[in-house]
Amino acid sequence: MRCPVCKNPMVILELQQIEIDYCTFCQGIWLDAGELEALLGDTQQVQDLLTSFKIDDAIREKRIKCPICNKKMHKIQAGQHNPIIIDKCRIDHGLWFDSGELQQIIEMGSLHKENEILILLKDIFTNKLK
Ligand SMILES: [Zn+2]
Ligand SMILES: [Zn+2]
Repeated sequence: MRCPVCKNPMVILELQQIEIDYCTFCQGIWLDAGELEALLGDTQQVQDLLTSFKIDDAIREKRIKCPICNKKMHKIQAGQHNPIIIDKCRIDHGLWFDSGELQQIIEMGSLHKENEILILLKDIFTNKLK
């Protein structure tokens, strides 16, 4: 799969048995449909976070094309307070997170600040910056 932003071939990383696609160039992350839920687990807080996702195509951010169907994705506001903007395929292939956005989402949706996935992600990004 190629990165929808910089068209580099993405690498596959395994986070807790879930394969995620990661661009080593822009540090973006692609999650197939259902993988975010699988990463975060099934808690009320996660459900609240997911129901907070709101399509807002008025947002003036560059439109990214879904790496699977190549159609322009929706802009989604996630979270009630200081929402972050992520990209979602119109026919639900998955979600795109720019650098750092997946961490922010996990912080919003996780009961435990020291979430294992968060630590793994921080490792990935810190190593990259060195
Ligand atoms: Zn990229
Ligand atoms: Zn798609």
